[in-house]
Amino acid sequence: MAAHTVTSVHHPLQSLTQTFKAKTFKPQNIKCKPTSIVISSKLRAAVIGGGPAGSSAAEALASGGIETYIFERSPEAAKPCGGAIPLCMLDEFSIPSHLVDRKVTQMKIISPSNLTVDFGKTLKPHEFISMLRREVLDNFLRLRAKEKGATLIKALVTNIELPLSEKSPYIIHYISNNTHGSLTVDIIVGADGANSKVAKSIKAGNYACAIAFQERIQLPEDKMKYYENLAEMYVGDDVSPDFYAWVFPKCDHVAVGTGTVCSKQNIKQFQGAIRNRVKPKIEGGKIIKVEAHPIPEHPRPTRVRGRVALVGDAAGYVTKCSGEGIYFAAKSGRMCGEAIVRASENGKKMIDEADLKREYLRKWDDEFFCTFKFLDVLQKVFYGSNAGREALVELCGKEYVQRMTFESYLYKKIAKGNPLEDVKMAMNTIGSLIRCNIVGREMMDDAFDGKMLLKL
Ligand SMILES: Cc1cc2nc3c(=O)[nH]c(=O)nc-3n(C[C@H](O)[C@H](O)[C@H](O)COP(=O)(O)OP(=O)(O)OC[C@H]3O[C@@H](n4cnc5c(N)ncnc54)[C@H](O)[C@@H]3O)c2cc1C
Repeated sequence: MAAHTVTSVHHPLQSLTQTFKAKTFKPQNIKCKPTSIVISSKLRAAVIGGGPAGSSAAEALASGGIETYIFERSPEAAKPCGGAIPLCMLDEFSIPSHLVDRKVTQMKIISPSNLTVDFGKTLKPHEFISMLRREVLDNFLRLRAKEKGATLIKALVTNIELPLSEKSPYIIHYISNNTHGSLTVDIIVGADGANSKVAKSIKAGNYACAIAFQERIQLPEDKMKYYENLAEMYVGDDVSPDFYAWVFPKCDHVAVGTGTVCSKQNIKQFQGAIRNRVKPKIEGGKIIKVEAHPIPEHPRPTRVRGRVALVGDAAGYVTKCSGEGIYFAAKSGRMCGEAIVRASENGKKMIDEADLKREYLRKWDDEFFCTFKFLDVLQKVFYGSNAGREALVELCGKEYVQRMTFESYLYKKIAKGNPLEDVKMAMNTIGSLIRCNIVGREMMDDAFDGKMLLKL
């Protein structure tokens, strides 16, 4: 079996790549010929994973003059996802509006005691939350990366050989159409999601994961009409002990789902509960797809090692509280791609770990560390008990809270507050928490008394 072809003349790792010619990859059990990929003199990058993180990284890399390969094992599949993205993503990532299934302008949040708050009151006429199908969005982003010059490889990456020395290349082993192939590259962007093989290869450490479960339910026309531009969020011990459940509208169906970190074994029970709570609204509906997937809870201990950087879910960039990851995946992919382009002077210069840390990680943390931490604290305060959830829904009724929340979500900028209103909001929060805790405790006491009475 021949080694992959190396035609580089001026490549920064030229001398070292020669040594790899001899190191061939032996296919096991598969008899077809290996594929050969001709590489040239530019810096070469492999992006593993063709979701929003990988496509955005590949687009930035290819646009910046890097020889870019993007590996996606199943381009036709749909990532299990609610598909809600913020308004700013449409502009920032030039996503055409015809890809958007629904423009949500009404958002209801429903408490454990069924207190319902309309959460979209402060939206301006041009503002909405976009609901997309991931198969549509991912395909669009991948094709755009290809148009910018990235080579799309439909293949499962099976193994990554780490360099033998600081400057030698990485070797990526993959299977495509029952054929083993390998590719040497200088840089790897790991965008392969929550079960990242790239992260394992570089011993990036683990993170806690939530499990999210979702059913796509096709509704009769009149029922679908109700969800035309409406999304719902349900909170309560019944639907999740530490997250929320949702009903998100799509083109011809709704996505009904829930998630949990602390009680994964009961996820189906929580899904049953959310279906129960929305029962009258989805009656007559037909389940057309059932899907589940892990959601990372926090960044990995290591996100850059050597010339490998992790982005998106592989890095652990999903916010607590909202479980939002699409925007952060695309953003981190793009930031990482641009960082490599900058540090390598458009692919002319080799880069190292320090470059990746300085140009990508530090910039990412400067921009988003506080947002992630803030939402982490909110989740702990409001999702921990039914009392906290009642307080959350009560607070969501306040116009100031709604405006601040939507501005931060839609535009991914910490909204500028009004100091007086901020103080009021803090007082309201404390007030709601105390009131709901007292109410919650009273409810628990009543229930306890009831049980005791029954026993007596
Ligand atoms: C049920 C559910 C609902 C969600 N709802 C929302 C929501 O409404 N809004 C939101 O913002 N976020 C939501 N999220 C989170 C969001 O889906 C993720 O944060 C986002 O998909 C991360 O994008 P990514 O590109 O990093 O990873 P992924 O989208 O997971 O993409 C990784 C890609 O890598 C490919 N891959 C993996 N391993 C290999 C390999 N070895 N070789 C080749 N290819 C490989 C996969 O096929 C996949 O296409 C939800 C998540 C779940 C599970």
